[in-house]
Amino acid sequence: MNIDINTENHRIKPNEPIHLNAIPTTIEYDKKLAKEQFKKQSKELTHLQELMYAEAKHAVLIILQAMDAGGKDSTVRHIMTPINPQGCRVLNFKSPSAYELERDYLWRIHQHVPPRGCFSVFNRSHYEDVVTVNVNNLAPKDVWKKRFDHINAFEQLLTDEGTHVLKFFLHISKDYQRDRLQRRLDRTDKHWKFDPSDLVARNHFEDYMDAYSNAFNLCSCNSDAPWYVIPAENRAYRNLAIIKIITDKLASLGMKYPEPKYDVSQYQID
Ligand code: ATP
Ligand code: MG
Repeated sequence: MNIDINTENHRIKPNEPIHLNAIPTTIEYDKKLAKEQFKKQSKELTHLQELMYAEAKHAVLIILQAMDAGGKDSTVRHIMTPINPQGCRVLNFKSPSAYELERDYLWRIHQHVPPRGCFSVFNRSHYEDVVTVNVNNLAPKDVWKKRFDHINAFEQLLTDEGTHVLKFFLHISKDYQRDRLQRRLDRTDKHWKFDPSDLVARNHFEDYMDAYSNAFNLCSCNSDAPWYVIPAENRAYRNLAIIKIITDKLASLGMKYPEPKYDVSQYQID
């Protein structure tokens, strides 16, 4: 099955500044078709992950950012299903603890980057330190402004050393967020997902769009660590686009199973 979606359209190009307000949050794409194609792509990802694990040369870091109710948890569940948990870790970065705040902001991040052969998925990341920190005035401007350069240097370090960085923003509108948050209040089995503090961030929705747009423009200079803005209201398409970007990246690496370090013909199992 040929999947002819153009994921390049979602990539932020270096030197082509964007604003999220001009980027659609949804896309016309048949959900049934997207789900079928996702299944096929899942098999491909399972195969490529095993190859990556066996070769132990490359690593993949997936970064997910979104507004509350943007679908990060659901994306993690879908994207990780085809992946052998042995070669993957998922990290959630919440508000930093006192212990973490006593150190530089990348300290808690760097220790969780994937080892060779493995995936790490970051549910929120160091981008909180330039977006949430900016919107909520959690640090002076002259402190967080310098962080874009640190982040570019950090991601360059990772890509130079064999970690492929793929960054996804799950783009939703403020109206869609209202419906998703309301659903969490309407359904008793979703109450646990609602946090009254989500409404505080919602009151600053436009400020978040500005801060995210700025971060994407400043941190898309490394073409090996691209940002993709995914129209996330069509969830079947969202899953398909993300898995396609990941598998395309892995398929481009020319990975090979390692040669055995012994003479295969010398052995026979009784
Ligand atoms: P969910 O609500 O789906 O369970 P979540 O990722 O929103 O998942 P929460 O515990 O609700 O998890 O929220 C985490 C909060 O931590 C977010 O408001 C986020 O902005 C905040 N946060 C994460 N990293 C930082 C940071 N470095 N500085 C300040 N706030 C941060
Ligand atoms: Mg939350």
